Amino acid sequence: MKPVLILSATHKVKGLLRSLSLNTVCEDSRCPNIGECFSSGTATFMIMGDTCTRACTFCNLKRGKPAPPNPEEPYNLLQAVRKLGLKYVVLTSPTRDDLPYGGAEHFYACVRVLKDNIPDIRVEVLVPDFKGNHQALEIVLSAKPDVLAHNIETVPRLYHRVRIGSKYERSLEILQEAKKLAPHIPTKSALILGFGERWEEILQVLRDLRKVQCDLITIGQYYQPSRNHHPVVKHYTDEEFEELEAFARSLGFKGVACGAHVRSSYRAFELSLFL
Ligand code: SF4
Repeated sequence: MKPVLILSATHKVKGLLRSLSLNTVCEDSRCPNIGECFSSGTATFMIMGDTCTRACTFCNLKRGKPAPPNPEEPYNLLQAVRKLGLKYVVLTSPTRDDLPYGGAEHFYACVRVLKDNIPDIRVEVLVPDFKGNHQALEIVLSAKPDVLAHNIETVPRLYHRVRIGSKYERSLEILQEAKKLAPHIPTKSALILGFGERWEEILQVLRDLRKVQCDLITIGQYYQPSRNHHPVVKHYTDEEFEELEAFARSLGFKGVACGAHVRSSYRAFELSLFL
């Protein structure tokens, strides 16, 4: 698509989202694929606001005390999804440690309103770790999303610097528990590279994810959103991404998206077709 058409389509999607008080990860995380996704009418919606109760050093979301979830949000989402004619929707949220069950009930409401009103819509949820609360996970899974995603983000050695307030084992456990609670719902995770991880550590994370039967994986390059964020320690080459993709496939992941600009929700629909 020509740049001028991409810009105008992007502008239109942004206008619609503003009018319905909806946020997208695409804008808030300054995703490098924003033009491509918006121009094709795709967006990853961020429910429950744009303020996070954690403080990952790579993330561009606001930190602080978030507002309560908007009870109208599921219906605003429905309007947006209908107007954009979407058939595959990704819903995520900031981590909401301030809410009961980490906001799982709001995830439930959003998934059900979409599924109950749009025949054949497919909904992927990208959830926080809910502080390891299995009941919260059960609430989300009971809404019957089509994919349950939780991002591992980085290697365990770097969690204390990159994912402050989160735990590697807890994130693995969320994916494992999801498989136990709803074996028929595919699980997905994402790794961002460039924080100073070692090659063997990346391979071990991929093995760990397969051990908990994670089905889909995305691997992308970290870009520093501002000078106040974690520095980029390494830029990976196309060859290195290809090598990682081959390794991930050899472990048995059903779908793998690997490359500098790949983000957890990038081409989520295409990746789900591998299931
Ligand atoms: S928990 Fe998620 S939304 Fe919150 S700061 Fe970390 S990456 Fe960003």
